[in-house]
Amino acid sequence: GYMLWNKQIVERNAENTLVSFQDRGYQFGDGVYEVIRIYDGKLHALDWHLDRLFYSMEQLSIRAPFSRTEINQLLKELIKKNTFTLDGKLYVQVSRGIQPRDHVYLEELEAVFYATIDRFDKPVDMWEKGVKVTLQEDIRWLRCDIKSLNLLGNVLARTKAQKNGYHEPLFHRDGIVRECGASNFYMIKDGEIHTHPANHYILGGITRKKVLLFAAELGIPVHEREFAVEELHDADECFLTATPLEIVPIIQIDERPINQQQVGETTKKLQQYYRKRVYDYQGA
Ligand code: PLP
Repeated sequence: GYMLWNKQIVERNAENTLVSFQDRGYQFGDGVYEVIRIYDGKLHALDWHLDRLFYSMEQLSIRAPFSRTEINQLLKELIKKNTFTLDGKLYVQVSRGIQPRDHVYLEELEAVFYATIDRFDKPVDMWEKGVKVTLQEDIRWLRCDIKSLNLLGNVLARTKAQKNGYHEPLFHRDGIVRECGASNFYMIKDGEIHTHPANHYILGGITRKKVLLFAAELGIPVHEREFAVEELHDADECFLTATPLEIVPIIQIDERPINQQQVGETTKKLQQYYRKRVYDYQGA
């Protein structure tokens, strides 16, 4: 297959895609990324993902190596070149650039970027069976709203969680439930959704945005608010969301089963509605 290497479409894994040892993405995790869903070979919610990509670069003062129109075209060309017509995900990352190692970055660096696409089928099994999560202290930095390459906190937490048989860590900080290691978290109580506000403590998920929109369409009340770990005891249902996974029920938090380990009615309703409505957001 083919990948995007800066502004060129090249054969994937080709020798000419080697990274410099002085690349800041390599040395410091100094860069940003996006994961975009592909349904039937079409990029999904591309505009929202590009909004977030440009937001992440802006927040870190990374000079965008492409215009909005340019990257839009390049990503679509990449799909076309691969004659990719299945369900998949596109990964795109931007490193600040190359310079002799120094914490202090040079302003004039030329950012380095690449994009790849991979097949990713709808995780039907997960939708039906749900997953377990385990509470962990959030040791990440305080700018979780930036989709930074620097994911050590997530890497350590998710690895520990999966070693112990859980799909995701559920992060708490200062006694407040935040989000999972690579997904947003929601609790349903008395038919109403509670989820953390989209601020610097969490990544503002694109799937989250859609779910809140769809919940409103279904007439399900949504509370974007901070809630304490103890409140999880009162949860009727819980679920998580992420671009590749959509809506995944959570059937257990540590030792405690949620909704007798069954997918709850409200979660099911949201899943079904999401499937029905999601294609309206095929993107630009
Ligand atoms: N929170 C974190 C920490 C993530 O890494 C992700 C990305 O997968 C999400 C939430 C979900 O965001 P999105 O719905 O845009 O994929």
